[in-house]
Amino acid sequence: MKIWFDGKLVEKEEAKVSVFDHGTLYGDGIFEGIRFYNKRVFRLEAHMDRLYDCAHYLMLNIPYTKDVLSKAVCETVAASGLNDGYIRLVVTRGVGNLGLNPFNCPQPCVFIIADKIALYDPAVYENGLNLVTSSVRRNRADTICPQVKSLNYLNNIFAKMEAIRQGAAEALMLNDAGNVAECTGDNIFIVKNGTVITPPVTDGALDGITRRVVLEICTELGIPAVEKTINRFSITSADECFLTGTAAECVPVTDLDGYTIGSGKIGPVTARLLARFKELTQSTGTPVE
Ligand code: PMP
Repeated sequence: MKIWFDGKLVEKEEAKVSVFDHGTLYGDGIFEGIRFYNKRVFRLEAHMDRLYDCAHYLMLNIPYTKDVLSKAVCETVAASGLNDGYIRLVVTRGVGNLGLNPFNCPQPCVFIIADKIALYDPAVYENGLNLVTSSVRRNRADTICPQVKSLNYLNNIFAKMEAIRQGAAEALMLNDAGNVAECTGDNIFIVKNGTVITPPVTDGALDGITRRVVLEICTELGIPAVEKTINRFSITSADECFLTGTAAECVPVTDLDGYTIGSGKIGPVTARLLARFKELTQSTGTPVE
């Protein structure tokens, strides 16, 4: 397997991040998860825009232009020989000393991996996924802003462990007001009386690219969609519920903390959105070669 590492494709064994990298020492860095289908990278530009916005927030100067890095993503996918898969693009603060000061790290480290991914058991796409509410709150915007896709995922990891220990595949994360933020690696949507509802990103969600695609599909199909604060009651009383994320794609949710959501099966609106999402992934994207 070839990894794009600081400007060139190298063998997996040669792609090594320093123990003095502040990504390793402090979780100081950012990443993107991107999918490719039929050798076409889905929503590459949007992922790149988010990466550079996050880098700017961290005062991290990525030593490549968006154009160069986008080409590097395509090159990595081409070298993988895969038709479909997942790309992990990481930018760390780079090598520094043992102090916290990020300005002592002159050169960020950038690497790109293209590989297979299977996030959830295939059965959940047919039967729906169970969620549990985590006791761990999503970060507040004045801590590690949830809109930043940083290398600090510990809150989400704690929440994920809670879910897994309780036999659920994913955890619902609330914000400090007790309203729904998102899940540990996915955005959340509900459907109520024909309207698709998702919390605004200011309620503690990542501005997910898949979330944006679903909102676009709603417009295209004439399905009413709003960004609105929701709580656990909104979910238990919803007609339908589903999650979105690059790795997860679109996953129906049929249970929250033992409450059956709607009919307990994939609902009609979710099914329409999933079908159109699949069509888009199969028919659009940036060709890798
Ligand atoms: N929320 C979190 C916390 C995430 O890490 C992700 C990405 N895995 C998402 C939402 C979904 O975002 P996207 O659709 O851009 O992958």
